[in-house]
Amino acid sequence: MNKNIFPRVDAEAHISIIVPAFNEEAAIVSTIHTIVDRVKQLSANWEIIVIDDGSRDQTANIVRSLPESLQTTLVRFSRNFGKEYAITAGLEYATGNVVICMDADGQHSSELLVEMLAKWRAGYDMVYAYRQDRDVESRFKRWGSRIFYRAISLGGQIHIPRDAGDFRLMDRQVVNALLSLPERNRFMKGIYAWVGYHSIGIPYIPLPRSHGESAFSKLKLIQLAWTGVTSFSVMPLRLASAVGALLALLSFTYGMYVVVDHMFFDKSVPGWPTIIASMMFFAGVQLLFIGILGEYLSRIYDEVKGRPPYIVAEVLKPKAIATQQ
Ligand code: UDP
Ligand code: MG
Repeated sequence: MNKNIFPRVDAEAHISIIVPAFNEEAAIVSTIHTIVDRVKQLSANWEIIVIDDGSRDQTANIVRSLPESLQTTLVRFSRNFGKEYAITAGLEYATGNVVICMDADGQHSSELLVEMLAKWRAGYDMVYAYRQDRDVESRFKRWGSRIFYRAISLGGQIHIPRDAGDFRLMDRQVVNALLSLPERNRFMKGIYAWVGYHSIGIPYIPLPRSHGESAFSKLKLIQLAWTGVTSFSVMPLRLASAVGALLALLSFTYGMYVVVDHMFFDKSVPGWPTIIASMMFFAGVQLLFIGILGEYLSRIYDEVKGRPPYIVAEVLKPKAIATQQ
């Protein structure tokens, strides 16, 4: 047990549950009911915040017409901005001193809330759930995630816990720290790790999706991983410099060898195929690394434009909460 941790024995938990939802009309009602049933047992003070991330189905209408007793606030985006932004908005609108993020598709078991809150009481500021068993996942996801965690840990700046996602509890302090980060490229896994605080993981096995399919295709996952690596590691740039230096050294050595061979052993220099092959190789390496530079440049471009990270089209609070504020 960490000695710096002070238990919050008598602290009252005001729980805000953030639920990002994109085209979840089939699952959202049962998910909210399940969460509410559980959270009621944990605290008298709670709220649900659904962020409708530009759904093209009835998700927003369904949330709008939920009964008051479910104390659900709807925050509707003007279009689909992506889960990372939905979570950011959720953090912004959450009022509790304990904020928990859960998926709308029912994959995050509400049973874990009990354990999460117990850890918060024990003094932890952030309690993340990590997937215990990835064997059920496709080979692409398993290998992809392995490569991703390797690549990002090479940067060495932050430690991102393996297989931990957005299903987590955060103390108000952590939420405020997250909100204080001004960046627009919001790679949440990295941001959670970057802010620090006393964190602990608890294992879980994701439940099967209750309806429909995951919104994260292979291409989207690769894009997300690339955003993560370029937002939190300068490793690709260092790699470019290292490869450049190595190639320069090799070609210099080879050049010396050719000169010596020619001057002292009177050998003729070999012909054009070698030149063409090496030119193609160097051109390829250069283009690759210019591409990597471009990636970082595009991140800077996004930040410099200074656009808001998302646009909220509508906020609908349940009356009880609206009158309190
Ligand atoms: N989601 C979102 N915006 C998106 C894609 C997904 O808010 O652009 C939500 C989605 O409704 C769900 C959660 O993020 O509540 C996780 O998405 P999904 O179940 O599709 O992904 P997976 O379970 O494979 O991580
Ligand atoms: Mg899911």
